[in-house]
Amino acid sequence: MCRHLAYLGPPVPLAAVLFDPPHALAHQAWAPRDMRGGGTINADGFGVGWFAGDQPIRYRSAMPIWSDAALPGLAATTASGAILAAVRSATVGMPVVETAAAPFLDGSWLLSHNGVVRGFPASFAGLAAELPVEELLTLEAPTDSAAVARYIGHWLRAGKPAEEVIATLVAGVRGTAPDSRLNLLLTDGDRIVATTAGHSLAVRATGDAVLVASEPLDDDPAWTPVPDNRLLIATPTDVTLGEL
Ligand code: GLN
Repeated sequence: MCRHLAYLGPPVPLAAVLFDPPHALAHQAWAPRDMRGGGTINADGFGVGWFAGDQPIRYRSAMPIWSDAALPGLAATTASGAILAAVRSATVGMPVVETAAAPFLDGSWLLSHNGVVRGFPASFAGLAAELPVEELLTLEAPTDSAAVARYIGHWLRAGKPAEEVIATLVAGVRGTAPDSRLNLLLTDGDRIVATTAGHSLAVRATGDAVLVASEPLDDDPAWTPVPDNRLLIATPTDVTLGEL
């Protein structure tokens, strides 16, 4: 997944992050500005997830975001106060299928991974050994990102704090696959949890709303770049940044 974003705040149409700004996610799909570690465009699918009350809902596709004729109308007329969306540039060797496009869904969490687990799946074996086999057999797709999402989801469902789960995942993957890139983005509708580990990220907090994105959506000076190796936790009114 190569560009992702999450929004929390007063309800806005999905189009407010997917299409309307000059460098909205649909623009980042074909003209990204800060693709680190390879890749040129993000044409291998997309997904948008949002919360209707407590209910997470997804719309995903294996097609480029710009080729979906239904999405502009859906995005203009569907509003939410909690949105997570992504466009995908598949890692070489990984399937281009709808189920490999973020957001992944686990319990009450929407999850996205921008990056790569080097040497997957062998390099994931140590962490995966902690997962019940049915968790591995029901991965949404046979990709590094789906496995990362399932690992995180499993431990979140078990009640572990998100900060602890993310730190364990990143340390575990880096332990066996040090060159991995692990920009993660999660929301349960109440807060956003994000990491920078090898890819770009920026945040814009405007008092009652927060937007976290691989790249700023416009030239608003309120956008702040997030340095590498950070764990960001955001609510609509508060952003905290810690070391990863
Ligand atoms: N490795 C992931 C996939 O192939 C994400 C790719 C990316 O971030 N460019 O789905």
